[in-house]
Amino acid sequence: MAHRIVTLPGDGIGPEIMAPALEVLRAVGEFELEEHPFGGACIDLHGTALTDETLAACRSADAVLLAAVGGPKWDSTDPARPRPEQGLLGLRKGLGLYANLRPVKPMPALYDASPLRRERIEGTDLLVVRELTGGIYFGEKTRTADSASDVCAYTREEIERIARVAFGAARARVSSVDKANVLETSRLWREVVMEVHSREFPHIELQHVLVDNAAMQLVSSPRHFDVILTENMFGDILSDEAAMLTGSIGMLPSASIAGSGPGLFEPVHGSAPDIVGQGIANPLAMFLSAAMMLRHGLRLESEATAVESAVQRALDGGLRTPDLGGSASTSEATQAVLAYL
Ligand code: NAD
Repeated sequence: MAHRIVTLPGDGIGPEIMAPALEVLRAVGEFELEEHPFGGACIDLHGTALTDETLAACRSADAVLLAAVGGPKWDSTDPARPRPEQGLLGLRKGLGLYANLRPVKPMPALYDASPLRRERIEGTDLLVVRELTGGIYFGEKTRTADSASDVCAYTREEIERIARVAFGAARARVSSVDKANVLETSRLWREVVMEVHSREFPHIELQHVLVDNAAMQLVSSPRHFDVILTENMFGDILSDEAAMLTGSIGMLPSASIAGSGPGLFEPVHGSAPDIVGQGIANPLAMFLSAAMMLRHGLRLESEATAVESAVQRALDGGLRTPDLGGSASTSEATQAVLAYL
């Protein structure tokens, strides 16, 4: 039976990169695809970023493929107005996606597209494992005219399960990032990570790094990292920093997985309103997200590898979209990858 994939093109460049990704998927297999409006596009239609119907469709799918949401049209500081990002948070909570995986492995053909010198990034191959459903983004919020607060809370269970994902994915070392010199949640984090480590993964090296130091090391010696394990907000910030090692945010895929049920696969970048409609969006992060979906969501390893190596070979062959310093359009980039597939 064909795998059932719910596709959420979203806003901005989202639809421009989703359509080529579906071409790439059709080149490697047969899939049952079901598209739903999401984010700003869904607010325009239904007044909310995520409808119950879309969430139900996602829950019963084998995997969910998302492009990007958001844009100036829906930007507002009025807390009463719906925001596209609420769709993302709703999907994460609704599908129980507690682990976000972001691999960062600059491709040799793009070493010179990175803002860092080649010798700094050469050989970098790291994975950021970010806790996705707890912490300050989900804690209680208060607001008066003159004050505001966001509560950061974690439970032992939330920390244990994300630590297991990180240790399970590590080849040699887990760098657990926290702010244990200041935050109580970080002190619990450190304690629980050490327990999971000594009980279940003693063969993996564990180090603790304060988040400010981790931010520094990511640019001074990124090669040093294998798996970076961290909480929700630190992971949000550090993974964007790590993204720049690859030369462009237009290159980075991500996977968000649950204990059971479908995973969500999406590029790290946003809806890029500044280039929407110009036909120049880099579709490679979207293709690589589809590859992560094939591997982690649908267990189609050889199809995943085929997509990844087609992307790599297209880059080796000189493919460069404007964000990588070239002039290839989205459709030229797509044709280049399809030709290798
Ligand atoms: P962004 O990632 O959309 O854009 C940052 C810069 O990177 C822009 O200059 C953009 O042109 C460029 N860029 C991003 N993706 C690209 C691609 N595939 N090809 C070429 N260039 C690319 O981040 P932003 O500007 O901070 O946010 C824009 C909107 O996207 C906001 O509404 C934000 O809330 C939303 N956003 C959504 C997600 C998501 O859907 N997961 C993530 C981040 C931001």
